[in-house]
Amino acid sequence: MKVKHHASQTWEGRLKAQARETLRVEIEATGGREIFAIASLDTRGMVNKVSVVARGSETAVPALGSYFERGSVLIHNHPSGILFPSEADVQIAAEAGSYGVGSYIVDNEVDNVYVVAEPARKKAARRLDEEGLAAALDKGGKLSASMPSFEPRPSQVMMTRDVAATFNNGGVLVAEAGTGVGKSFAYLLPTLAWAQGNEDKVVVSTATINLQDQLYSKDIPLIASMFKKKPKIVLVKGRSNYLCSRRLREALEEEGLLMADDHPLRKIYQWELSGASGDRSALPFRIDDPTWYKVCSEADACLSLLCPFREACHVIAVRKEAATAQLIVVQWTRPQYCLPIQALSWMKPTR
Ligand code: SF4
Repeated sequence: MKVKHHASQTWEGRLKAQARETLRVEIEATGGREIFAIASLDTRGMVNKVSVVARGSETAVPALGSYFERGSVLIHNHPSGILFPSEADVQIAAEAGSYGVGSYIVDNEVDNVYVVAEPARKKAARRLDEEGLAAALDKGGKLSASMPSFEPRPSQVMMTRDVAATFNNGGVLVAEAGTGVGKSFAYLLPTLAWAQGNEDKVVVSTATINLQDQLYSKDIPLIASMFKKKPKIVLVKGRSNYLCSRRLREALEEEGLLMADDHPLRKIYQWELSGASGDRSALPFRIDDPTWYKVCSEADACLSLLCPFREACHVIAVRKEAATAQLIVVQWTRPQYCLPIQALSWMKPTR
């Protein structure tokens, strides 16, 4: 049965024919079940490129954050043909909207489109002053004024200029630099300048937790102090670094009531009740790995939208914080096959 809701419109006003066809084929391939796709718009606001990112259930949507790019659209179908958004659809649209992503609902034939939320408009990027940033790290520059022990290094100045140019012109920059060049300052200064100047979000990814901590607690505050407006910076670790409230309660139940008062699980529970962030590194006592791995967050065990502890979840809390940050510092797990070079790979700014 096809029901056209009064607020829906025909596909011609919103989608290009090729994009519509892609959606139709994908929906048919799942036997008419629900799919979620991320779409980019052309300059007239028409959907012109579609990539299916999830199939089968609305509960898959929270995992889509990494696909969200400001100005794009999340499209999903209602197999019933009734396009009016449910409460869950509105929640999904709100989550997507926080990234500047719009939300459309279509029927299985992609004849009609219901626009739950329009995407944010892409802003024209404000270019960085490449020479000005390089000069800030050069002799007599802004950094040497605020840090008397600072010694200008030509390689650092050159790298700053290259990183700034990559932000301006797009593309990928791979820079290899030996110890002591001052790589961190060389990429942090243009990174923060871009995030500030464009009210954008930039991700800095490190190879180790130690470097992640060093950037967050030492290098970034120093570079951030060079700006008038304080940027919001959030440290995001791999999910196994955070306590899972649900698994902790399950582990406590398993151990039973006869646990000693100083049992590690009881101590973790008390720690959580005291308002802890759930980050293992903030634990005020040592905990062995086997105990922690019983109670930390795990992607495979996470119930996500269906979790009764979702409201207080530490992983979700840090992700929400990251959603409104300008600079996100993450740790990247090095794949086994990666070449052992000291390299910095850039993620393009999320615009
Ligand atoms: S949402 Fe996932 S990580 Fe968070 S408490 Fe629930 S199961 Fe644990």
